Amino acid sequence: MRQLIIIGSGPAGLTAAIYAARANLEPLVVASSVDVGGELMNTTEVENYPGFPDGIQGPELMAKFQAQAEKFGAEILYDDAVELELDGPVKRVILGSGKVEEAEAVIFATGSAYRKIGIAGEERLSGHGVSWCATCDGFFFREQEIAVVGGGDSAMEEATFLTRFASKVYVIHRRDELRASKIMQERAFNNPKIEFVWNSEVVDILGEDAVTGVRLRSTIDGSERDLPLTGVFVAIGNDPRTHLVHGKLDLTSDGTIWVDGRSSRTTVPGVFAAGDVLDPTYRQAVTAAGSGTVAALDAEHFLAALDEAGAPVTSADEIGGRPQVDQPVA
Ligand code: NAP
Repeated sequence: MRQLIIIGSGPAGLTAAIYAARANLEPLVVASSVDVGGELMNTTEVENYPGFPDGIQGPELMAKFQAQAEKFGAEILYDDAVELELDGPVKRVILGSGKVEEAEAVIFATGSAYRKIGIAGEERLSGHGVSWCATCDGFFFREQEIAVVGGGDSAMEEATFLTRFASKVYVIHRRDELRASKIMQERAFNNPKIEFVWNSEVVDILGEDAVTGVRLRSTIDGSERDLPLTGVFVAIGNDPRTHLVHGKLDLTSDGTIWVDGRSSRTTVPGVFAAGDVLDPTYRQAVTAAGSGTVAALDAEHFLAALDEAGAPVTSADEIGGRPQVDQPVA
């Protein structure tokens, strides 16, 4: 049996792997069957990760994380965790291949998934003009008129990137004020190919086999109109990816994994969480990396206590108890 399995290979998972590997825990990182690196693999330039004053491409940054983790002895596995058994001293991670890995401790760092608008045309035309990833699909929209839905940093980043290909990019936002940071707003405002459509919700995506337009509803007076275009990029935020632990770990009212105060300790001893999966607020690569550090250190202390006691800690109270605020919901 291993000492530690880390599920997830974004900045949180791979930073946890670097720390755990340096502590000789020889962690196994269940990275995903698709890609190592998490969400930053779908990003272009990362300008705000400290240590890279000239910026760095997301995939290049994550390759460096991976190389650093492997250098210290972390094992990266290209597979998905499909089921978890977390009760008791032996944690079992069932993989997509059918194989089962066992460990004394688990760090859960599965990040977050793109949020959907929740309208019928979105599912139906997904892959036929509806996308959640500009870097993956932008190329297909050369000289076309397309839209980005959302008003945060992701929407500004996607819209700005898409102007490399599209002839025009509408940014459709439900308010008249952006949530995005000032620098990202300015970049979008100054781009002549971007046009803002304020106070508007997308209530339908039109088209049979491919996107032909969107139906917009005014958030001011409820009036509706159709806007012809051939592509819709949805960038309205993310939700924590917690489906593997529903009913197994307590969640907060935000849907993130509940942890004990500033630690990474979940309600199950020996199970730790890190990154976007526990963070409804900051959600930056650098905060996820910091969170991965916390989880690795907590796991290291837990495993050291096991070694000393010769037996596992069996209740959350024995590892510090719960704070009085932000109680978990069932
Ligand atoms: P976000 O900051 O939560 O913004 C989501 C945007 O989508 C908001 O403008 C929100 O509108 C809108 N929205 C949410 N649900 C909607 C719905 N159902 N229909 C229509 N619009 C909806 O998410 P994000 O932009 O993905 O950013 C997440 C985090 O990552 C942030 O902390 C951000 O700073 C960070 N990030 C940073 C960078 C960078 O620094 N380069 C790039 C990308 C992301 P309201 O404003 O009305 O709520």
